[in-house]
Amino acid sequence: MSLSFGRSYLAIPGPSVMPDRVLRAMHRPGPNIYEGELVAMMPDLIDDLRAIARTRQNVAIYIANGHGAWEAALSNVLAPGDAVLSLCTGRFGHGWSEMAEAVGAQVRIEEFGLRAPVDPDRVEAALRADTDQRLRAVLLTHVDTSTSIRNDVAAVRAAMDAAGHPALLMVDCIASMGCDRFEMDRWGVDIAVAASQKGLMVPPGLAFVFFSDKAARVRADMARVTRYWDWTDRANPELFYQYFGGTAPTHHLYGLREALNMIAEEGGIEAVWSRHAHLARAIWAAFECWSEGGPLTLNVSDPAHRSCAVTALRIGAPHGTALRRWTEDKTGVTLGIGLGMQSADDPKADGFFRLGHMGHLNAPMVMGALSSIQSGLIALGVPHGAGALDAAAQVISEA
Ligand SMILES: *Cc1c(COP(=O)(O)O)cnc(C)c1O
Repeated sequence: MSLSFGRSYLAIPGPSVMPDRVLRAMHRPGPNIYEGELVAMMPDLIDDLRAIARTRQNVAIYIANGHGAWEAALSNVLAPGDAVLSLCTGRFGHGWSEMAEAVGAQVRIEEFGLRAPVDPDRVEAALRADTDQRLRAVLLTHVDTSTSIRNDVAAVRAAMDAAGHPALLMVDCIASMGCDRFEMDRWGVDIAVAASQKGLMVPPGLAFVFFSDKAARVRADMARVTRYWDWTDRANPELFYQYFGGTAPTHHLYGLREALNMIAEEGGIEAVWSRHAHLARAIWAAFECWSEGGPLTLNVSDPAHRSCAVTALRIGAPHGTALRRWTEDKTGVTLGIGLGMQSADDPKADGFFRLGHMGHLNAPMVMGALSSIQSGLIALGVPHGAGALDAAAQVISEA
């Protein structure tokens, strides 16, 4: 039988759970897009977005997903033939590199594998080796959602400064924004990209590009930027429609307004980061117990390099896929697939899965997902260590 009656739980690393409040805010007739409430709410919305990214600089909004955010950011600062250095710690680092190639950049990849973060010393060495300073940008993924590695953005900035290199620092925060601490201005980030459907709790469809005044000057020197991706008018609109290069994403904006209200009511972004960090510790405690007596292991062994938004697991084929199917069918909990982990003996990454813990998440959701996983391990006969749910409850008890 199935015990999944009632509300299902999408525990994948994006799109994440949408709060009822966000859905209700979107459930309304279409507003006037020329004047009135929607137009009036934009300045505060922009300010609140800046606060989430911890920047006083510029932001442009696009009707797009994360891939659109990548292309938007790259299109504003790179011309065909420009060289970029891309620091890869998983599938999304490579995806962003491929997007850079598609806009005509020459991409040099620094590969750090699937289980370790970017090594800032190697970044500094690569930048020093670029003696004629041809590199225009360094691409970094803050949290690579495929591996759940969290990179040290400030350390990469320090490496760039130590090398005295003028390249722009461009950071993919699509998975991390609203989950893992990110300080755009303090960490010296030039461009940060995000999207609505992960930590920001809004359905897929909005992309955000935050950019520094330095990046704006690079854009100003570009010979040509394609019209839709050009951030100039979007960030400094004289007319409302210029925010979006056309019709506004009306209902997504109401959803985003409500999500930002929820973040403010919780106590602001610092409180949201603390909740994510505490719940992530509970999740890691459970996985560490299970890994004591079986094949399940956390992909990232050092907690200092783990994301608070997503956890990637190794369990050996075919258990990853079997466990995902079991928890979805029997308990209504949908776990994430293994992404970018394929190998010759596991071409479909059946030996991997991921747990998303981003955005609209609380203690009973975490305990529910963990107990569904434990039930699945028992039902499928996958050996596992004891005490995982107790360990998670212990962490939660320390709230
Ligand atoms: C989800 C994600 C993307 C891609 O976003 P889409 O909305 O699927 O296009 C890119 N980078 C990271 C780190 C992500 O988590």
